[in-house]
Amino acid sequence: MKEKVLVLGGGVAGLAFARELANKGVNVTVLSMHDYYISGPSRPLILSGEQKLDRITRGYNHLPKEIKVVYGRAVGVDFANRRVKLFHAKEERYIEYDYLVVALGLRYAYDAIREEDKIYNVYDLGKLFDLKHLIWNANKGTIVVNAPKQPYRCAPAPGETVMTIDMVLRHRGVRDNFKLIFVDGNEKPQPPVIADVWLKLFEEAGIEYYLGKQVVAVTPEGVELDDGTKIQADYKVILPPNKPVLFDSWLEVRSPKDLRLKDYDDVYAIGDIAKLPFPKNAEIAMISAVNAANKLLEDMGQGGGNYLDYKFSGWAYAGNLKGELKTLSVQFSLDFSEGKPKGSKDPEPKAEYTERKDNWEQGLLKRLFGY
Ligand SMILES: Cc1cc2nc3c(=O)[nH]c(=O)nc-3n(C[C@H](O)[C@H](O)[C@H](O)COP(=O)(O)OP(=O)(O)OC[C@H]3O[C@@H](n4cnc5c(N)ncnc54)[C@H](O)[C@@H]3O)c2cc1C
Repeated sequence: MKEKVLVLGGGVAGLAFARELANKGVNVTVLSMHDYYISGPSRPLILSGEQKLDRITRGYNHLPKEIKVVYGRAVGVDFANRRVKLFHAKEERYIEYDYLVVALGLRYAYDAIREEDKIYNVYDLGKLFDLKHLIWNANKGTIVVNAPKQPYRCAPAPGETVMTIDMVLRHRGVRDNFKLIFVDGNEKPQPPVIADVWLKLFEEAGIEYYLGKQVVAVTPEGVELDDGTKIQADYKVILPPNKPVLFDSWLEVRSPKDLRLKDYDDVYAIGDIAKLPFPKNAEIAMISAVNAANKLLEDMGQGGGNYLDYKFSGWAYAGNLKGELKTLSVQFSLDFSEGKPKGSKDPEPKAEYTERKDNWEQGLLKRLFGY
């Protein structure tokens, strides 16, 4: 195989894709911005101290020999000349490709809201550790947590965040000194299959909520919503709208099983950056990667044909209303194989589901990074 396959992004989708090719003996180059990867799903448990950063961080030294990782930041794609421009301080630097797979994920668009005060969240590490410090040290105040309008990365994460904050404050015996407010840009808390569970939990935990309203500004006094409502809050836990890395809009692909870009036979988009009719999460990213690899292998005459349906099980951290520092979780599943999503769930939060989510995340990291 002489063609050069270049994957942009060494995250969930990029590595899943590279491994599928490596399994067939095909060489792949992966461009990664950092020499480490930090998994997302259990970041809310960093807040409670139930997860540690080193358990969810991996490097790229234990990949199969067919995968070569080069480090750098893509700043542009020249589709006509089949090359990717890298950030470089002095001279221009490019990497050429025969096949390109764009797996750059998404960015948190802080520029899309008016930001006049400090922001916390569980998505960016500095904001995550500052939030952890805050909820373990502050003794009173109002905390507002938001979810932007879909699509955003990991549907349950904002609900998980507010329930984890609630659990830590209860555990410290200071919950009554705090007011917790949840603002959701969607008509229902996400994902819709567990919306009723979230609302029940918010009622039981005494969390005030606003649905179908987006945060448009963060001010020293609180947050402003798109309908003009002003909510007073001391601390703002804000996930801004999510946008694709490098491109102006999500990359349109031909279908969920043929992930080539509409205008280019030699370019694929997978994972969060692809415009797909599914939630943006690690399971969908993996499935899109496997399907893209299948298509490429087929085109190369190296097999393929084993396309996957889009379906998965997930778990949402639901805090612990008794204030024990032991997160309970809700289990749900979603199946998109017949167009309209079919969902199911166990509405009862359980500790064993938190363990299952941990096993799933550790298994995913092992499958991608080798340990
Ligand atoms: C807090 C949080 C909770 C989550 N919870 C869950 C969950 O419970 N279940 C679930 O299934 N999913 C969850 N996710 C979502 C999941 O992590 C993502 O959907 C998944 O990682 C998407 O894979 P991806 O490959 O598209 O993007 P990523 O895994 O983000 O990979 C993109 C890679 O590209 C790199 N990159 C970006 N820009 C450039 C550039 N210009 N040049 C070079 N490299 C670049 C990035 O550094 C990164 O390594 C969660 C995510 C977060 C952050």
